Amino acid sequence: MLNIYEFNQYRDFDSFSNLELFIIAFACMCVGSFAQSVIHRSNPKILNKKKLNIFYPRSFCPNCKNQINPLYLIPLLGFIFQLGKCIKCREKISIEYPLAEISFLLIGLILVYSYGLSLFFYITFLIFFLYYILFFLDLKFFYLPFGLNISLILIGLTTNGFYNMFVDSFFNLLNVNGLLFSLYGFFFGFFTLWSVNFFYRLIRKKDGIGGGDFILFGAIGSIFGPVSLSFILLVSSLIGCIFFLINKEVYDNRLPFGSFLILGSIIYFVTKNFELLDNFLVL
Ligand SMILES: [Zn+2]
Repeated sequence: MLNIYEFNQYRDFDSFSNLELFIIAFACMCVGSFAQSVIHRSNPKILNKKKLNIFYPRSFCPNCKNQINPLYLIPLLGFIFQLGKCIKCREKISIEYPLAEISFLLIGLILVYSYGLSLFFYITFLIFFLYYILFFLDLKFFYLPFGLNISLILIGLTTNGFYNMFVDSFFNLLNVNGLLFSLYGFFFGFFTLWSVNFFYRLIRKKDGIGGGDFILFGAIGSIFGPVSLSFILLVSSLIGCIFFLINKEVYDNRLPFGSFLILGSIIYFVTKNFELLDNFLVL
């Protein structure tokens, strides 16, 4: 069985020329731009009204419906060329576009720097892509599309099943198959939140946690395994509490818990892969 360190030797960061790094950076920003348009087009309010999917029609200004010149679709530069406004109607372009492009640029470069152009890079970048979309869809619309959650589960099952990609030291010691690690993670994640909601519903006669949250937590479990989940749940709940205290007026009854789960699992990944807490905790 291969492990992630063998993938790293595929192409090391130091071996890239400046041009190659530029192409990688540019490609990362294009993915960011695409992620942002998926978020925009998945808005349930827009989706129900118009015939719109991720690829059709071509990018247009949401205000005046003017089709955007391909030159202005170049990440970051397009925004700068247009001075942040639609060239036709002068409506402001959402700051979320350059924000997404910069986020993907930074994450892409950090991942390439850390893991080279390896399979581990592609997988973690893909997970970040799905996370980014889910994070903002839940934050803005309380919407966690089933298809995106299922994609994460498939990534968890295949990468762990074939390559033991995220299997932690605890499971390595047990010598458990990566697929089992992933399945345990999924069921543990899914049923933890499902049963919290089940008891909540018994007492309060209404749902406390959305169905998308169970599946998302199961998906996170299928990637990072069952041991990660208590840490992730603890961190996400802390983030949720702070968020609630700050935004009491905006979100009176509902919280985008899926977004917090995503942040919690990113914090788990970072602390584990960069060994930030190894001296304090056994993760
Ligand atoms: Zn316009």
